[in-house]
Amino acid sequence: MKYVGGCCCGALRYACNLSPLECGYCHCLICQKTSAAPVLVFASFPSNGFRYTNGHPAIYPSSAHGNREFCSSCGTQIAFREAENAETVDVNVGCLDDPLAVSPEYHIWCQSRISWFETADNLPEYQQGKP
Ligand SMILES: [Zn+2]
Ligand SMILES: [Zn+2]
Repeated sequence: MKYVGGCCCGALRYACNLSPLECGYCHCLICQKTSAAPVLVFASFPSNGFRYTNGHPAIYPSSAHGNREFCSSCGTQIAFREAENAETVDVNVGCLDDPLAVSPEYHIWCQSRISWFETADNLPEYQQGKP
């Protein structure tokens, strides 16, 4: 299994047997709040290749159209998923066992980027979502 990961305490483990479709930095305010970090890096996996192999996530509806999946014991946020008919699961790269298995390709929601947060890259930057 190429892409595996889990929460800080180990109660939640997951695996993806399909490669991610894309990977990026999200600077939106909801990602900042729910991760309590200046930016969130996500890898978008086909939902039919993603499954929890240990435990069941708690669900937080972070907006009308999507949910955050997290560990109710240690609080690690694992993923974002559309509320209805989700075709992808956006996994938070920081909770992959091997974060080097993916690498970001772009920045989105740069309109709310925290100004002291800079990355040394020349990736495309979008003020809002990906066009
Ligand atoms: Zn946990
Ligand atoms: Zn976001």
